[in-house]
Amino acid sequence: MFGRLRRSARDPYSDPVGRESREKGWCVDCRTSVDDEFFMVHDSVWAKARMKDLGGFLCIGCLEKRLSRRLRPADFTDCPMNKPDFTYLDGRPVPKSRRLRSRLGF
Ligand SMILES: [Zn+2]
Repeated sequence: MFGRLRRSARDPYSDPVGRESREKGWCVDCRTSVDDEFFMVHDSVWAKARMKDLGGFLCIGCLEKRLSRRLRPADFTDCPMNKPDFTYLDGRPVPKSRRLRSRLGF
């Protein structure tokens, strides 16, 4: 039993809801596309929303619903994805929704 638990914790495909969210790029809760809401929050914020590492994506609205509060700039990590000038590998800017930009503070 312990071995099985340990394996599932490591296996990114063990969580079908999270896997579907990551493959289809949609929010785990509302299944809206998160194409313009890719972001990284601190582990503590993600954990408070009862999300696991590979548990899939949440849109801003559903993450805020789970936290029962608005996100603020301090909730987000310092990674390039959270910067205004983040681009795809081919140089096109990655779109950010108005509400994501407002939560990031720009
Ligand atoms: Zn959602």
